[in-house]
Amino acid sequence: MNKRKRAVVIGAGLGGMALALRLAAKGWEVCICERSATPGGKMNRWSAEGFTFDTGPSLITMPDVFQELYQVSGTDMREHIELMALTRQVHYTFDDGTKCCQSASLPEWLDTVRRFEGQTDGFMKYMELGARLHAISKSTFFARSPIEPPGKETLGVLSSMPLLRGWGNYHKEMCHYIKSPYLRMIFDRYMTYVGSSPYKTPGTLCVVPYIEYAQGGWHVRGGLYEIIRSFLNLMETLGVELRLNAPVAEIAHSGKRVKGVRLENGDRIDADVVIMNGDASTAGLLLGREGYRAYPPEERSLSGLIFLFALKNRHSDWHHHQVLFSKDYPKEFSQLFDERCFPDDPTIYVNMPSITDRSLTPGDGEVMFVMANAPANEKVRWDAEGIESARQRVLKRLQASGFPDFEHEIVVSDVWTPARMEQTYDMPGGAIYGRNSHGKKNAFIRPFNKDLRFKGMYFVGGSTHPGGGTPTVLMSARITGNLIEKNER
Ligand SMILES: Cc1cc2nc3c(=O)[nH]c(=O)nc-3n(C[C@H](O)[C@H](O)[C@H](O)COP(=O)(O)OP(=O)(O)OC[C@H]3O[C@@H](n4cnc5c(N)ncnc54)[C@H](O)[C@@H]3O)c2cc1C
Repeated sequence: MNKRKRAVVIGAGLGGMALALRLAAKGWEVCICERSATPGGKMNRWSAEGFTFDTGPSLITMPDVFQELYQVSGTDMREHIELMALTRQVHYTFDDGTKCCQSASLPEWLDTVRRFEGQTDGFMKYMELGARLHAISKSTFFARSPIEPPGKETLGVLSSMPLLRGWGNYHKEMCHYIKSPYLRMIFDRYMTYVGSSPYKTPGTLCVVPYIEYAQGGWHVRGGLYEIIRSFLNLMETLGVELRLNAPVAEIAHSGKRVKGVRLENGDRIDADVVIMNGDASTAGLLLGREGYRAYPPEERSLSGLIFLFALKNRHSDWHHHQVLFSKDYPKEFSQLFDERCFPDDPTIYVNMPSITDRSLTPGDGEVMFVMANAPANEKVRWDAEGIESARQRVLKRLQASGFPDFEHEIVVSDVWTPARMEQTYDMPGGAIYGRNSHGKKNAFIRPFNKDLRFKGMYFVGGSTHPGGGTPTVLMSARITGNLIEKNER
């Protein structure tokens, strides 16, 4: 009888768990070693006084990518999690008091576009470009690792690439279609979904807004961490071993072949393949690679400053997702990426999932997640003084945008800084999406899913190809799983 092949995954983030499920479903013996006491990585949860908070992702897109993973694991997504479609996706407030709502209903949204643009042609043409690029990415960028030679099919698809308007700078290309300064801010913000600046990313990333407008945005009843809980159940069913509080200190190798890992406590786990789910740039250290260098701080994607507030009272007339824009968006991005400081006037994202999902509160209250983009940790000191100074700027923007005063209602609160994220998840600077997507090289040539020097060494997750964000990370698990099956069987 053939001995089962053994894989060790370093990190129980979304990508690590998804890959473990895929390999286990194919008959691999899989062990995940996670340095923290809880699984999920950035998809994390905090509970206090009966309030439940997601401390990481708050919006699910591309649910079909999630469904495919459940199917590969031998089940149906609907048996494990309940996706709740958001009919009013985001409420926006601009500095001059102008407001609008991004509705999931196309006629309603087109009315809004018409109000700002006087017509809807530009928006529709922009979506058409996004749709074409998305169709191409599905069978290329999102489906395979850049180290795999393109097949005939891929070359055929690439030859239909809309070169005009697809390759320039994201902001400039978008402005070709969208004329209203308000809608331009809305579209510029999508580049923060990949932790980047709209003024530095390539135009092809217009697939990001396209996906949201075409497929919608979703909440998971009970909070997004329910996805992690369901993965844990599936891992148990498929026999995946999970070791918590198990930091990997070294990836063992003999010559050019990896042999397993050594934990900080000295335990050795032998394996045929090792997969890094932690930040790809930290694997060099674990491999003891000579001349190892992490990417420089200026290439890091955005981090964030997050306040979690549990409120005493019910506010059913407030909104699930709100964005309160700063007065000067170019200046905000320049401060984040060029000066690398916390902005004077940050754009604020307020997520109140309890508006949609009452299971997150103990009674009348609300759960409130307030986030501002922040540079990945380097120059800013996130001590009590640094946090207080940033908090004052956040509160000032909330007030300037007419957000109701809520401070007297806070029952319990917590704060996540870039420094705390860096420490908790061992990611350089607390950069949420690994390297930023500035320029074509960073956007399209992300760290590969397979190591080119060490046989049996692979990568999965947001810091590797094809990039960060929950559905993209699941695609990364699919790509890496296929590579392992192809190369290691
Ligand atoms: C505040 C915030 C908001 C977000 N919002 C959204 C959103 O709305 N929608 C969306 O789609 N995405 C969002 N994201 C991004 C999304 O959460 C991530 O892209 C995704 O969860 C990353 O998964 P990953 O597989 O890369 O693993 P990670 O979450 O990075 O986990 C990696 C794991 O590896 C472990 N590890 C690292 N080194 C070692 C070691 N040496 N030994 C053992 N374990 C190790 C870490 O502890 C960690 O648990 C958000 C993220 C954050 C932080």
